[in-house]
Amino acid sequence: MAKAQAKAKVKEAGKDNNYANGLIVKALSGYYYVRAEGEARNSITVQCRARGVFKKRGLTPLVGDRVKFSLTENGEGTVEELLPRSSELIRPAVVNVDLAILVFSVTEPVLNLQLLDKFLVHIEHAGIPAILCLSKQDLENDGGDTEEAAIAVSSVNRIYRRLGYEVYGTSSRKSSGIQELKERLNGHLAVFAGQSGVGKSSLLNAIVPGLTLETNEISNRLGRGKHTTRHVELIDIDGAYVADTPGFSQLDFGELGIEDLGYCFVEMRQLSPDCKFRGCTHVHEPGCAVRAAVESGDIDQSRYDHYLLFLTEMKDIKRRY
Ligand code: GDP
Ligand code: ZN
Repeated sequence: MAKAQAKAKVKEAGKDNNYANGLIVKALSGYYYVRAEGEARNSITVQCRARGVFKKRGLTPLVGDRVKFSLTENGEGTVEELLPRSSELIRPAVVNVDLAILVFSVTEPVLNLQLLDKFLVHIEHAGIPAILCLSKQDLENDGGDTEEAAIAVSSVNRIYRRLGYEVYGTSSRKSSGIQELKERLNGHLAVFAGQSGVGKSSLLNAIVPGLTLETNEISNRLGRGKHTTRHVELIDIDGAYVADTPGFSQLDFGELGIEDLGYCFVEMRQLSPDCKFRGCTHVHEPGCAVRAAVESGDIDQSRYDHYLLFLTEMKDIKRRY
């Protein structure tokens, strides 16, 4: 779109108060790149500075922020106001994420339910709805370890669908399940989470025609597996935005209180009002509804085992400080 046209559109959008609504899609070197609300895909973004008043108030505009902005004389803009945030992720720093796609491959690397639960704890703690994606489904039938893959698929379906998590199956290699996942993302600001090598970049490349995110083969060869200093950018996938870096890159329990852990397991959160004691940790308290449910098979044993394991891990961390 021509610059003048964009300018007219921004003016139009903000004619009530001279400010337009926009979304910060990138932040770099003190500049914020703002996409005016309702702008078409691939249209230009306005390069903005933030008003000095933010700094004074200790506020930092972040990628994902919905803002009010104005245009300045030189064709750039000014971020005037930050609208309230619905969620905040710290590493990577991106706000207003409202959907996490937790990716696990059926094999290569082998499905690790403990790691899956750890990711879920962090996602639940951030208050972001999660869906599961079982990637590399082509390896279920040929190549790879087919038996391992079949076990992975059946345990995820058995345990996690029952908890209410949606499960999507995809293969970037065979282009299957991609359209369904893309439709599910519609209207959201999403992050893809999951361990390295499960196929997150490949999935994004498959979802967004023309996108060429570096996949792991290349980055490993160049010895750049970790992108620690990279900036976050939102990718416009025609109806949704996706952060181009994996969410939840740090999985330590440093910011989580021991009393919060039960809340991050959805089935324990639902049952804990039935425990005899308020603040029950579901370990040895009498009249614990969670332990009763584990015994009756209503709560999956592996989920409870991981809960106990994380609890121990957290106690160890607290003891060290
Ligand atoms: P990321 O680290 O999660 O972003 O994973 P990548 O997208 O970089 O993929 C890691 C490796 O898995 C690469 O070698 C990909 O070619 C491979 N891979 C990704 N998706 C698929 C898939 O659907 N099927 C198969 N067989 N391999 C895949
Ligand atoms: Zn309990």
